[in-house]
Amino acid sequence: MAENKRPSWDEYFLKLAMLASERATCPRMHCGCVLVKDRFVLATGYNGSLPGQPHCEDEGCLIVENHCVRTNHAEINAVVQATRHGVNIVGSTAYITNMSCTTCAKALIAAGIKRVVVFSDFHDTLATQFYSQAEVEVVKMDMPNKEIQYNLMNYSSAKKTEKSK
Ligand SMILES: [Zn+2]
Ligand SMILES: [Zn+2]
Repeated sequence: MAENKRPSWDEYFLKLAMLASERATCPRMHCGCVLVKDRFVLATGYNGSLPGQPHCEDEGCLIVENHCVRTNHAEINAVVQATRHGVNIVGSTAYITNMSCTTCAKALIAAGIKRVVVFSDFHDTLATQFYSQAEVEVVKMDMPNKEIQYNLMNYSSAKKTEKSK
């Protein structure tokens, strides 16, 4: 087994976006987004239905022109979460599992996001063009280690607790 490597900040926040994506509800795509400023998580999002409305995984996708339109995408939901809590996201970095669609790219640009970190492409390529025109830095990384590196038995404090039982 590979030695545990401490993740970089970018890997760490991308991994959080992967974790957020586990909550996604559309079987056609699982996407997560984390908005970060000064190494501080401001908001998270995943693609999911509007509050109180049925999920794709329960009632099927709502397809229009070969796209499922039932969910808000992860980026939109992260921006919406920030809005609902009055969090200023201007100047932040968006960590996303998949390259934005055109609509989400425009929303992030309008919301003042200055940097995008991503590890996977998306079929809708106008996002790259919009980001470039808006001078948003786009960083494409390898997908971080998918596993959470946490082994309770490796930590001496945990062993002490077990002995005290
Ligand atoms: Zn769907
Ligand atoms: Zn989108």
